Amino acid sequence: MKIMDKVYECIVCGRIFHEGQGIRLSLAGKEVNFHSKSCAIKFLKSLILYLDQKDLENAAKLTIKEFEEKAKEIRERTKKKLEKL
Ligand SMILES: [Zn+2]
Repeated sequence: MKIMDKVYECIVCGRIFHEGQGIRLSLAGKEVNFHSKSCAIKFLKSLILYLDQKDLENAAKLTIKEFEEKAKEIRERTKKKLEKL
């Protein structure tokens, strides 16, 4: 084990984890750390509830659009691969 390892504290459950583990997000100029995906999801769910409904609507539309487009791209790529076979 390296002594110089940085440690972080999960903002949701307080668990300590080492650099390279967990999830780190930069949010509103602050760094927030989560030891696991489930803690990150818990935090993000609360975050969504605190958002202004209008902002949330816009953000949701943009996010849905982004992932729909990505999923479409992936589908098309898979289709092309299959056609090559
Ligand atoms: Zn946690």
